[in-house]
Amino acid sequence: MPKPTSQFSAELLWAKIPSNTQARILEAMWCAHCSKAVKIDTYTVHGIADSVILHAHCPDCGGEVRRYIEPQDLGPLRLSR
Ligand SMILES: [Zn+2]
Repeated sequence: MPKPTSQFSAELLWAKIPSNTQARILEAMWCAHCSKAVKIDTYTVHGIADSVILHAHCPDCGGEVRRYIEPQDLGPLRLSR
């Protein structure tokens, strides 16, 4: 089982992602209900192991949208252990 990462660590990791990369992620969140990419503006940051997970709601249907950001997406921005 992956060990949970504290909310704080996940937020720190997200904050290290360049803002243009953050924007690209936030503009293309996939809504499974609408079957399309949606742009979200409010989200919460969570983490499991060294992955960051964004939780948001679809602006069209209001359904929950999640985006896993894998360690390989973060390149050198891995959490130190
Ligand atoms: Zn939707």
